[in-house]
Amino acid sequence: MNNESEKFRKHAHQFVDWMADYMKDVEQYPVKAQVSPKDIYNQIENKIPDEGESIEEIFKDFKDIIVPGITHWQSPNFFAYFQANASPPSILAEMLTASLGIQGMKWDTSPASTELEERVMEWLRDAITIPSDWTGVIQDTASTATLASIITAREQKSNYQINKNGFPGYTNFRVYCSEETHSSIEKGVKISGIGKENLVKILTDDKLALDSNLLLETINQDIADGHIPLCVIAAIGTTGTMAMDPLLEIAQITKQHNIWLHVDAAYAGSALLLPEYQELIKGIEDADSFVFNPHKWLFTNFDCSAYFVKDKNALVNTFAILPEYLRTNTDGLVNNHCDWGIPLGRRFRSLKLWFVLRNYGLKGLQEKIRNHIKMAEWLEREIVSSSDFELVVPRSMNLVCFNYKPSTIENLTTDKQNSLNEKLLNRLNNTGNIYLTHTKVKNYFTLRMSIGQTNVNQTHVVNAWKLIQEVANEIIQRRVLDEEN
Ligand SMILES: *Cc1c(COP(=O)(O)O)cnc(C)c1O
Repeated sequence: MNNESEKFRKHAHQFVDWMADYMKDVEQYPVKAQVSPKDIYNQIENKIPDEGESIEEIFKDFKDIIVPGITHWQSPNFFAYFQANASPPSILAEMLTASLGIQGMKWDTSPASTELEERVMEWLRDAITIPSDWTGVIQDTASTATLASIITAREQKSNYQINKNGFPGYTNFRVYCSEETHSSIEKGVKISGIGKENLVKILTDDKLALDSNLLLETINQDIADGHIPLCVIAAIGTTGTMAMDPLLEIAQITKQHNIWLHVDAAYAGSALLLPEYQELIKGIEDADSFVFNPHKWLFTNFDCSAYFVKDKNALVNTFAILPEYLRTNTDGLVNNHCDWGIPLGRRFRSLKLWFVLRNYGLKGLQEKIRNHIKMAEWLEREIVSSSDFELVVPRSMNLVCFNYKPSTIENLTTDKQNSLNEKLLNRLNNTGNIYLTHTKVKNYFTLRMSIGQTNVNQTHVVNAWKLIQEVANEIIQRRVLDEEN
């Protein structure tokens, strides 16, 4: 065993050296993996090795085979999707978590895991101004949290009869969200047995936020038609354009009709640490559940999704299960988080969050997020003053949605403009210097630039903007040449 632990020590030191170098050099790698389908697969043996191999051999293959197939989410030039950030305190904590290797399903299986989770969830709840009588629990993802919310709404509404007897008598539920909300909602509605056809997507206003008047009309019509409005899901920060649904207005409607209200703030929720954004969740006290992902914009490694509920009994009554082999002496005295969601097993996820919250402190986190938003404001000004680019929707927080519309080309049809922008996006990503993704807004192929990586600074944003303009210019010059020939 001594020998084993000395070997481990040696390898761990080597790995830590690699990790520190990676953090320092991450900008040297192409941000988006420059490989083709099956490139990696074909380099990997087609069966388990009969004899064990050394860590040195495996580590070498990690560097030679795996790293080239990695898209570097921790590069400050990663502007795609929404970030899934890591940070030094989070990574260090993950090392400890892996070493402890605990399974925190019940209080007894590691009391510190449960109780630290209770504390850090209270910290976050209070910091982002969720009401103090709500309770938080970590879920793996926002998708899971939203599913848990829909199922809890279903059970509360059916007096826990669907868990018991299935759906007879409860076939007319309706769930509502805007047409801009995340695909996880549709998935949750399917999995929970409500049925995709019973998810009603409400049209949005010119800011791509849910139109609450339409919501109310639809709900009233549904009630008149014999449906039971079960749940509304409001987005604070949609994935496409970071649109903000009018929570206060929606909460009045759900309160009046006794409908479950879930708030999906998966990405933007981190910005609620800033007092200047807290008005976005005005009305939250009339909602039932809320989720945001510290694993996105709060510098905590995936997975770590913070789920808050007003009525913890509704959650636990929905998911609790107690077979004999899980009975412990402390049942009823403590929280057993395996009863607070779908999986039984639970990783020790609060540890990394605790390290992050303590190491940055509230002020450090606020400063980072504020700084990201400032950089997005800078980019927004550049785009507004450029004659060849335009904002598709106003910037929201740290997300800028724009497209290329060269002033030198007359009579640019939507189709042509879209193919120009798609070409621009592909070329940018093929440079390996930056990584952006797109969305469709009002039929326009739209570039999204999310400025929120842990280590992004103004230089990265300035260089990215320069590159975008250069590559766009190249495309136009080639196009003109092509047309001349
Ligand atoms: C990212 C995102 C999700 C999904 O988050 P996961 O944790 O990956 O499930 C849901 N809703 C919104 C608004 C998001 O931005």
